Amino acid sequence: MSIAFIALGANLGEPATTLQGALRELDRIPDTRVLQHSRLYRSRAVGPGNQPDYVNAVAQVETSLPPHALLDALLGIEALHGRVRDGQRWGPRTLDLDLLIYADLQISDPRLTLPHPEMTHRNFVLVPLLEIDPELLIPGHGPARQALQSVGSEGLALCQ
Ligand code: ATP
Ligand code: CA
Ligand code: CA
Repeated sequence: MSIAFIALGANLGEPATTLQGALRELDRIPDTRVLQHSRLYRSRAVGPGNQPDYVNAVAQVETSLPPHALLDALLGIEALHGRVRDGQRWGPRTLDLDLLIYADLQISDPRLTLPHPEMTHRNFVLVPLLEIDPELLIPGHGPARQALQSVGSEGLALCQ
């Protein structure tokens, strides 16, 4: 069994409802269960145009699926929620599931980079991650807490 962390985000439709549903679906991935998840956070959108705010959360799972199979399962759940990839990077989406960390793996291939390359720059990932595991070390980087100190918490709030 390996421990992995998954970032959830949504800014179209009913984001909070979508994230609650996605957490249940993560728990239904074969050979995988959700051990912990953060509360829901609201963050201002980065990316093109004037997009609605995001709702974000992070889940910790225990899994015996290898990392690429876990990524495939995440993409499958996104598709279930009507995620359409139109080629526009960082466009609005009904659901985004990113694999942040998988055990102590550091890999970079055309389909999967671990740890997720942007995670150390994103307070909407780091804050919910630290809520689950305040002592977390990001493989190849160091303490998540230290990454958050350089990023700050601007634009991020707990959902009501
Ligand atoms: P970002 O990766 O900056 O958060 P994004 O989530 O909007 O951007 P997507 O369009 O959702 O990007 O994903 C594009 C591709 O990224 C996916 O098809 C997937 O193969 C690849 N990818 C590489 N590493 C990861 C990872 N750690 N988690 C999720 N997808 C990844
Ligand atoms: Ca993403
Ligand atoms: Ca993604």
